[in-house]
Amino acid sequence: MLSVSQYLDLVLDSVHELPPMELPIADVNGCVLAQDIYARWPLPSFDNSSMDGYAVIANDLVGASESTPVTLPVIDDIPAGFKSLETLQSGQAIRIMTGAPMPAGADSVIPVESTDGGSETVQIRAAIDCGSCIRLEGEDVKAGDLVLTKGTFIGPRQIALIAAVGYGVILVIPRPRVAVLATGSELVEPGTELQFGLISDSNSFLITATANESGAVAYRLPPAQDDEDTLIEILEDQVHRADLIVTTGGVSMGAYDPVKSAFLKLGTAQFHKVAMQPGMPQGFGSVGSVGEPAIPIITLPGNPVSAYISFETFIRPAIRKMRGLTQLQRPQLAATLKGELRSPMNKVQFARARFVEGGQVEPVGTGQGSHVLGGLAQADALIVIPVGVDSIANGDQVQVIDVRGELS
Ligand code: AMP
Ligand code: MG
Repeated sequence: MLSVSQYLDLVLDSVHELPPMELPIADVNGCVLAQDIYARWPLPSFDNSSMDGYAVIANDLVGASESTPVTLPVIDDIPAGFKSLETLQSGQAIRIMTGAPMPAGADSVIPVESTDGGSETVQIRAAIDCGSCIRLEGEDVKAGDLVLTKGTFIGPRQIALIAAVGYGVILVIPRPRVAVLATGSELVEPGTELQFGLISDSNSFLITATANESGAVAYRLPPAQDDEDTLIEILEDQVHRADLIVTTGGVSMGAYDPVKSAFLKLGTAQFHKVAMQPGMPQGFGSVGSVGEPAIPIITLPGNPVSAYISFETFIRPAIRKMRGLTQLQRPQLAATLKGELRSPMNKVQFARARFVEGGQVEPVGTGQGSHVLGGLAQADALIVIPVGVDSIANGDQVQVIDVRGELS
């Protein structure tokens, strides 16, 4: 039997950061940057007004106030996106909108709020300092500046900068395409009536959703019968489309577990017992058709809670590695147990729990069986009970993984 960390190392060694590809910036949210980004031009790229108002020469407004307003002729009007052909002379104003280029000759903008808003002439009721309300060329970013470096995580705020400095397409580590396949002859599509002995496939939805949440582009395949030829056909098809295949079911000790034999025919696979509960039977390897590069495959146990815990423990880190991220695991935090828990001495237990008031966590569901989906749905935390601990009392400190949301 392998420890959780030994097995995680094996899984992580079997997957690699995906090769970079060029993507339109509309599609790069959540990707890692695979190039340095140098500004193609300065930001702002020209001196422009930060207010709707009037471009003026500040010196013309000395002494202007409510009681002693200054009136100037308005010689031009500049909306954003246009520039004035006029050169402002002393004693003149040009109406200007936020973001429009400063006209030649002007040194300041008086906000419309300090004026009567006139279009032929403008009455101005305040004085201003020279340079007021102008955003200067390059005050944010200089042309040629290195604004983002290779390896940076790209979120919405980074995309805005990349767009602003002039890139429509950039080189990134793409999100891995993950094919999710539930196996088991007892599985039917949810929503159809169940004949006795059959069950709704829930795993493939669970794993597709968590894979998407962890930054993959995951898609679900219809459940596959426990039949070696069927499985081989499905997998051969998927090796052309996916960067990772995840299966559930069919890897335990059962007599009808053709997943193992199918994988061994298509590539390499190793199956291990891992000292964890739930999720003891695990497998991984690579599959490919002749002449094609092999792609990694990870086989999860069929019990839904086992599949979920295995995903959190092994596949989320693997997907994050493929995405080029460096923090692979969710952090653990300390909390106080409300209630009691028992755990097998020789395994790590991941007990389903929820956060309650005062930094406490409380076990959920009707026990910690690996089939207890009702409890899983109530959980937003996993209590990690290490090897060597067989019981935890009310009020004890525990280590907890917060499974709400995704790591950034
Ligand atoms: P297995 O790992 O194939 O031996 O399955 C273990 C248990 O998980 C059995 O009770 C299966 O019926 C159940 N199971 C397997 N696959 C799924 C699935 N996709 N959705 C829900 N339960 C499943
Ligand atoms: Mg099965």
